[in-house]
Amino acid sequence: MQPQQLIILGGGTAGWICANLLALALPANWQISLLESPQIGTIGVGEGATPQLRLLFEKLGLAETNWMPQCHATYKTGIRFQGWSTKAGFDHYFHPFPSAIDDETAKGCYFNGVLRRKGMAADAHPDSYFLASQLAQLRRLPLSDTAPFALDYAYHFDAGLLGKLLQQQAVSRGVTHLVNQVSQVRLTPGGDIASLHCVDGLTLAGDFFVDCSGFHGRLLQQALAEPFISYADNLFNNAAVAIATPVGQQPRPQTTATAMQYGWRWHIPLTSRVGNGYVYSQHYISADQAETELRRELGLLDADISTRHLQMKVGRVANSWQRNCLAVGLAQGFIEPLEATALLLVQETVNRFIQHWQAGQPAAGARQAFNQYINGRFDGIRDYIVCHYKVNSRTDTEYWRANAANQQLSDSLQQLLAVWHSGEALSDELRRQQIGQHYPLLSWQCLLSGYGIFPDAASLKPLPPQLQRYHAGHIASQLQQLVKQHFPQQMTTG
Ligand SMILES: Cc1cc2nc3c(=O)[nH]c(=O)nc-3n(C[C@H](O)[C@H](O)[C@H](O)COP(=O)(O)OP(=O)(O)OC[C@H]3O[C@@H](n4cnc5c(N)ncnc54)[C@H](O)[C@@H]3O)c2cc1C
Repeated sequence: MQPQQLIILGGGTAGWICANLLALALPANWQISLLESPQIGTIGVGEGATPQLRLLFEKLGLAETNWMPQCHATYKTGIRFQGWSTKAGFDHYFHPFPSAIDDETAKGCYFNGVLRRKGMAADAHPDSYFLASQLAQLRRLPLSDTAPFALDYAYHFDAGLLGKLLQQQAVSRGVTHLVNQVSQVRLTPGGDIASLHCVDGLTLAGDFFVDCSGFHGRLLQQALAEPFISYADNLFNNAAVAIATPVGQQPRPQTTATAMQYGWRWHIPLTSRVGNGYVYSQHYISADQAETELRRELGLLDADISTRHLQMKVGRVANSWQRNCLAVGLAQGFIEPLEATALLLVQETVNRFIQHWQAGQPAAGARQAFNQYINGRFDGIRDYIVCHYKVNSRTDTEYWRANAANQQLSDSLQQLLAVWHSGEALSDELRRQQIGQHYPLLSWQCLLSGYGIFPDAASLKPLPPQLQRYHAGHIASQLQQLVKQHFPQQMTTG
């Protein structure tokens, strides 16, 4: 077999994840090189994940006891949302990662949720019904030798350290690491990418290119002129300011997403520090105003701690795979950090690409099927994120009022919200639209009932005895018993 060259441009988390997964999957005649520029650098944020990241470590053969200390990582059982709703009793809720036990307990949440939507005083706040919510509340790690059921969990980590670890892994699998800056991209007469030309004269010719150049989109967007479809009309945030603080006293295995005046802030506990960041819209406030608001919230107005300001471009490329180039990571698109889905999409993009590659399908057909799938994933996840803003009930700033008034929703999201308000089964609508793979019923239910999207409390009718089937308090205390019995490890400092 002829040797073939695959060149990855970009050494951020996306680039190194690609390097590892491709090194494991491609036939031996493919030589993989990764080129990055320290002058340009990486984005350096991205500390939260979804449970799918566990599959990456499994594939790489990295045990938690090995990689977690190296990356200052902690466990994550879900996300606590604070202050996104002003409805009495709904000022916070937890979006849990699922466990098998939820299949039973969640029935109460769904049943009571329907009753509440139909105007009855059922207890439909989601937090009582899910194991992960109770784990976080009791500060227990999602680790058990005795639990007779499986559960999902994820991690928080230092993005820079994770990048270094993935780099070592990829290099040990034979990936060549090059440090240089691409200044020019040459195309073949047919329009494919032929070679990358660097500032010091180095030329890299390749057969296939993976664009992991971050928001620069150096190959797919710049060189191949692939259009970018912006999500800015219904995701208003376009900037962030990040600041690290010392580890807290009583950390919980959760990300906390707290609504701010013009966006929201994350709180992510690592073993070495707490990551904080305010994601906001520059249409409403300046970078200085955002930093001041964040510092005030954290009690750091006069503290001598440095911050990092970042710009964000939300949206996706029209097609992630065009010609002999695949874009992955921020070069491919970004939804926004809420729900921490970026690395999930990186993994899915590379894995899907590898499936098509290994199936040996004809290039054009494979590309079309692949692009359609990836675009569906981006748009489906976007709708769930957009919903967090759309259903907010804050009225304190123009930012929140504009989000609530947003009419630029996809048809899919509009229909889903209409079904919720009508009191009909959300599960049927998710099935009808075939969108449960983006976010399942559990996630939609937690979001909408967590915000208290129900008829006015004053108008609720008492719950008839024959419908008092699920008692939230009883379910919560049973779950707490299970947690105490099967999850003995407490999350301590860091
Ligand atoms: C505020 C914020 C918060 C986020 N939080 C999360 C989160 O909690 N969870 C999550 O999953 N994701 C999160 N993300 C997204 C996450 O940071 C990225 O998906 C992840 O870091 C991957 O980035 P990347 O590798 O695509 O790009 P980058 O890290 O920007 O890397 C780009 C690479 O390309 C190289 N490069 C670019 N141009 C050239 C050139 N001309 N020549 C040579 N090299 C070049 C750079 O040197 C660099 O190595 C967040 C993003 C932002 C903005």
